[in-house]
Amino acid sequence: MALTHDLLRSMAGARVFRRGAEYHDAGRVAAVDLQEGVLRANVLGSTEYAVALWIERGSLEYSCTCPLGRDGSFCKHCVAAGLAWLARVQGARQGPKPPALPAVTMDDVRAWLARQEKAKLEQLLLRHADQDDDLRRQLLLQAALHAPQGPDIASFRGIVAEMRGVTCCRSFRHLCCLISWT
Ligand SMILES: [Zn+2]
Repeated sequence: MALTHDLLRSMAGARVFRRGAEYHDAGRVAAVDLQEGVLRANVLGSTEYAVALWIERGSLEYSCTCPLGRDGSFCKHCVAAGLAWLARVQGARQGPKPPALPAVTMDDVRAWLARQEKAKLEQLLLRHADQDDDLRRQLLLQAALHAPQGPDIASFRGIVAEMRGVTCCRSFRHLCCLISWT
């Protein structure tokens, strides 16, 4: 015989089981422990009650220090203690949940980009350049350096001048680095 939700429900009856579940959900069960085959827990009711559950000769035995428990009832505190134990066992079996890995990676982005029309990529780049000064200057710089009639030095200097006062981030990914190191 094993401790199960069904066993707790059949011992307590639907109404008491529901009250016990509410106690468990409210976190009223503390110090759940299994010692020498006896499950012990403290359950906070109007005061703190000590619950013990154990299997003896194939049936679930119990004790609770509350008035109903002393009268021999399988009380809501017994239910709450049993549920707390089951929740703990279930949690231990499942183990800590591994962090969810992002399903999409930059490889997928690269593959997606490779499938796009050139015109669409141009639009995407220009739209971002509107919002990103760094990217806009990078594109202007490329256009100036690779002008059809040869490098446009005046424009290059203009872009560099625009960059004055920008502190280099030294990440070697941005235009500030290019200007700092050319
Ligand atoms: Zn009780």
